[in-house]
Amino acid sequence: MMKKNHDGGKVKIPKDAYDTVIVGAGPAGVGVGIALQHVGVKNYTIIERDEVGSSFISWPEETRFITPSFPSNSIGMLDLNSIAIGVSPAYNMRIEHPTGVDFALHLKFLVNELQLPILENTNVNSIKKTGDFFEINIDTSVIHAKNIIWAAGEYQYPSTGIFQGSENCIHTSVIKKYSDFRNSEYTVIGGYESGIDAAYHLAQKGKKVCVFDKNCPWGEETSDPSVALSTFTFERMNDYNFQKNVTLNANTTVKSVELVNGKYEITVEGGEVYFSDEKPLLASGFRGSHSCISHLFEARQDGFPMLTEQDCSTITDGLYLCGPSVRHDGHIFCFIYKYRQRFAIVAKSIAESLGLETDEFVAAYKSWGMFLDDLSCCGKECLTC
Ligand SMILES: Cc1cc2nc3c(=O)[nH]c(=O)nc-3n(C[C@H](O)[C@H](O)[C@H](O)COP(=O)(O)OP(=O)(O)OC[C@H]3O[C@@H](n4cnc5c(N)ncnc54)[C@H](O)[C@@H]3O)c2cc1C
Repeated sequence: MMKKNHDGGKVKIPKDAYDTVIVGAGPAGVGVGIALQHVGVKNYTIIERDEVGSSFISWPEETRFITPSFPSNSIGMLDLNSIAIGVSPAYNMRIEHPTGVDFALHLKFLVNELQLPILENTNVNSIKKTGDFFEINIDTSVIHAKNIIWAAGEYQYPSTGIFQGSENCIHTSVIKKYSDFRNSEYTVIGGYESGIDAAYHLAQKGKKVCVFDKNCPWGEETSDPSVALSTFTFERMNDYNFQKNVTLNANTTVKSVELVNGKYEITVEGGEVYFSDEKPLLASGFRGSHSCISHLFEARQDGFPMLTEQDCSTITDGLYLCGPSVRHDGHIFCFIYKYRQRFAIVAKSIAESLGLETDEFVAAYKSWGMFLDDLSCCGKECLTC
């Protein structure tokens, strides 16, 4: 089969080409895969470097979801942690705040139950667009696709190297469990969700913890949990052991961490120096997997990919982004209950490019609050009392 490319020249359509390849089998990849199945796209696959839900499997053992699960589906309101219409992790698992492993099992259940097409233990090394097709370089060969949905997440791409000597710290994303920590005092650099989570679990074990943050996350006024700490975290900060053992240092930027005579010297802006016997824990967030394919996106001022209204790259037709790195104006889609509302936008765009009918699909997803195409309703603050 031959097809004309944008320049009027002829490009050969590879016989093995998928209509769509999804990269990553976390909640974003699995969720958008289910939406593709619902809209009737058949010739697609999910490529996963490890196993379904592998980022969640790597969470520290004690870490739990901060967003609660509740089986509210019977009145048409999706469980906050659900990635598909009609599904409730709360109902499946009988757990309100799942651990990473709990949630990975839930994702595996969905993949098996819905028989989603998936290639596990297959890393996507690079992507190139030639004519109307993407060449996807995987471990063993090259595969082709008309569209790619990039859903490779953030967790496996931590933000390190942010100050001098940050290699002397341990990033929270590589911690297996806090119960392995044997010393009596620890330093945590970064005071958003991961940093406070680390401080909470260490404080529960009676450790003294000193937290530094360049801002004041626990003092943010907004009601948006993408910016402020979550209710679950504020509640844990009121815990007796947290109050007794944790010291919070706001507006304190760490400039360097040096190992001198077996002690870690932590220098903050202004020159003050703190000491720690143990490697400081780095809770500095994530640079995100989109950094691996940044040549295929225009960058916004904040470094996140610039997207069309369909969450497609503005410079590479057919390349979509799903998951926590999706940004539109000031809206941050970093939680499941936020970015899941964009799965159907992407699925609709791909289905229409293949000539499929989407009206019923859109109506069903809209009725479940899973089709957010009007962003003017976002960003509202809650009433305060
Ligand atoms: C401590 C912590 C607590 C959190 N709590 C919550 C919460 O309570 N509620 C909530 O909604 N969100 C929470 N989040 C955020 C949530 O974890 C993310 O939204 C979610 O993991 C993003 O899903 P994803 O599918 O985009 O990425 P991931 O879950 O990271 O999945 C990406 C997948 O892509 C695969 N992959 C990566 N690169 C490649 C490649 N090159 N080739 C092939 N495969 C690849 C990975 O193996 C992985 O399986 C939390 C995050 C952290 C760190």
